[in-house]
Amino acid sequence: MTAERPEVAAAACADASVIQNIVIIGAGQAGGWAAQTLRAEGFTGRLVLIGDEAHPPHERPPLSKAVLSGAALPETTRLMKAEAFEALGLNWRPSARVLRIDRAAKQVLLADGEAVPYDKLILCTGGRARQLTLPGVDQVPLHTLRTIEDAQALAPALGAGRSVVVVGGGWIGLEVAATARQQGAEVVVVETQSRLCERTVPAEISEHLLALHRAQGTRVLLGAGVSGFARAADGRSEVLLADGSALRCDTIVLGIGLVPNDELAREAGLECDGGVLVDARCHTSDPDILAAGDVAVAPNTWAGRRLRLESWQNAQEQGIAAARSALGHTVDYQPLPWFWSDQYGMNLQIYGMPAAAHRVVRRCDEASGNFVLFYLAGDVVQAAIGHNAARDLRFARRLIEQRKPVDDERLADLATPMSKQ
Ligand code: ADP
Repeated sequence: MTAERPEVAAAACADASVIQNIVIIGAGQAGGWAAQTLRAEGFTGRLVLIGDEAHPPHERPPLSKAVLSGAALPETTRLMKAEAFEALGLNWRPSARVLRIDRAAKQVLLADGEAVPYDKLILCTGGRARQLTLPGVDQVPLHTLRTIEDAQALAPALGAGRSVVVVGGGWIGLEVAATARQQGAEVVVVETQSRLCERTVPAEISEHLLALHRAQGTRVLLGAGVSGFARAADGRSEVLLADGSALRCDTIVLGIGLVPNDELAREAGLECDGGVLVDARCHTSDPDILAAGDVAVAPNTWAGRRLRLESWQNAQEQGIAAARSALGHTVDYQPLPWFWSDQYGMNLQIYGMPAAAHRVVRRCDEASGNFVLFYLAGDVVQAAIGHNAARDLRFARRLIEQRKPVDDERLADLATPMSKQ
């Protein structure tokens, strides 16, 4: 599966005369988009896609929902149909690990001893599920949810009559809790903070999530510290809490966040700070190495600071941006952050970065319970969060991006369409 015609590549873009080999490390969503974008932009040189997963590039959001529940097969998460993937003419290395980046020799060294040369290197190494180092971690099976294999291992443990403790009341924890509950399991969510998804949403939305999960019969413990794990006399697992109590269950799932896979970059001397630092062109501190997706920490004008965005949107768009930038195109990637989660019948979407200083305007449909909350500075919308309001949110996004002044009363008034704000 190779297409090595460097002379055509040289013709394809401005400074491509020296670009004959592009290597992408990480074959997830960002890596997959980078690869297909390079080809779409006319790069016909040698394109090596190296990933330690056994699967072609795929999207992760369904893994904690439809794939976990069995409603969808893992294959349905693939970025591209098999023929389209084949047609990219990649040198694809599944189940392959890069051990080291040799910046001086401009090559990456694989676990099997091979050295793969690059002119441009794109790091799309993503992240891994955070683990806990507490007493008893080796006494009981602990599930996490990041990969297809994780979903396949957890799925059989979620049926009726099973009991599941989910440690972590963030997005992954809540999505797994919802899927488990819908499969008939008894579910307890244990969260250290005083509210759900504290890292990413305002308190009002945390309350909304709490009400949703409790209404579905999930026990949610807030401000609850986990002190360890144990195997009970009956062979089941126990989550030991800091207050001295224990939660006995069949299955424990940790959903306590993501650790960026930035070790290769750090060992190669690239600037890192909770991920690989890149600029708005997706360039790392080495001009021939770029980074994109969950691992990249990039400046963002909307946030007014550097951000590592763990989202579907960022994996795709930054993967595309990095590919274009590698080929010499002008790129200024600073997206309005967009995130969504599906839990039970709720589609929650967040545009922008809601902050405590923002004024809140509520546009609520009392009959359905659907709503959009707008977060404003002055008369300009800075961020919006919606519950089953995808259409309104598309208009909200436009208001944010255009920095268009709005009127609070019209914004709150369901009779005034969002298109007329
Ligand atoms: P993800 O998207 O992977 O779910 P988040 O950061 O959204 O990541 O959520 C992780 C959640 O796990 C946070 O709400 C955090 O407070 C919680 N958490 C972290 N460590 C623990 C712990 N030891 N016990 C319980 N909750 C934890």
